[in-house]
Amino acid sequence: ATPAATMVGTTIGAQNGVLFKGGDVLERAKDVDTVVFDKTGTLTKGEMELTDVVVFDDGQPVADGGSASEATGSPSDERPDGGAVTIRDRLSEDDVLRLAATAESGSEHPLARAIVDGAKDRGIDVTDPGDFENVPGHGIRATVEGSEVLVGNRKLLRDNDIDPSPAAETMERLENEGKTAMLVARVPADSTEGELIGVVADADTVKESAKDAVRDLQTRGVDVMMITGDNERTARSVAEQVGIDPENVRAEVLPEDKSDAVEAIQNDGRQAMMVGDGVNDAPALAVAYVGTAIGSGTDVAIEAADVTLMRDDPLDVVKAIRISDATLAKIK
Ligand code: ADP
Ligand code: MG
Repeated sequence: ATPAATMVGTTIGAQNGVLFKGGDVLERAKDVDTVVFDKTGTLTKGEMELTDVVVFDDGQPVADGGSASEATGSPSDERPDGGAVTIRDRLSEDDVLRLAATAESGSEHPLARAIVDGAKDRGIDVTDPGDFENVPGHGIRATVEGSEVLVGNRKLLRDNDIDPSPAAETMERLENEGKTAMLVARVPADSTEGELIGVVADADTVKESAKDAVRDLQTRGVDVMMITGDNERTARSVAEQVGIDPENVRAEVLPEDKSDAVEAIQNDGRQAMMVGDGVNDAPALAVAYVGTAIGSGTDVAIEAADVTLMRDDPLDVVKAIRISDATLAKIK
């Protein structure tokens, strides 16, 4: 393209909240044949809310499977005998939530913030944890009230020799609803044996325009894919809500593996646009044929990207491709 055409395209982009980093990106965008969306914060709003707390006692869900377990439901955590028990006290929903939230208060992850806010909304006192460790892509571990508390996915528990399988049904039920379900486990100070004590779930909402953006891209003949660190079931439920083919979903991709996943997609000879918002996404944005940072994306993502979408609107992905198309068509 001539410098003049590039300038026109860049200017039209800027007026529409689509910032192209230079003329060659503007030229490349029209040749994108695959768009890979990150899930959280890109297709979804990334505003998680705590929706469920399920207590596990001795490998069994307590009062699971109904509104009684909803975080917003009536408090169902009164001990039948007023606490004067001879055997050990069963944990209440609030106990599980307090332990999870206190552990998570060391994390900046949106999943963690939703747990902490959900606990505070219930009037639970959330204090600072002792030792805290982030296990990227899996969860967290922290010292709370003298015990070690783990909150995260199945792999986190397995890696710590705690069997997540008693919670399988509960996890699947929540995940099929599109929620991110997390296991809560505790290793008492006087023990090396960890126990599953609960499941908590956060829900996110799909962005209003996500479905239209996916449809517009597909209408143009662009393949639409989704990539996420979240589990397969939750990922598929979200994909279904926005019209992405389940076969095009790459789930349980670790942060450090996202760029490999994009490279694998491109090894088929595809020219992929990766669209993401997070620090996690930066390497994937960098290896993509076109890397696109969306909305309130982190600085790291914006720096790694070729295109920045100023608004938080997935439809601007279509706009970016259209502007590239139109600008270059005119000057031919
Ligand atoms: P995403 O790609 O959706 O941003 P991540 O790669 O950050 O997801 O995390 C992948 C999975 O690891 C989450 O779906 C969750 O199960 C678990 N996980 C990550 N961080 C946390 C946390 N702070 N607390 C609980 N679970 C977590
Ligand atoms: Mg994200």
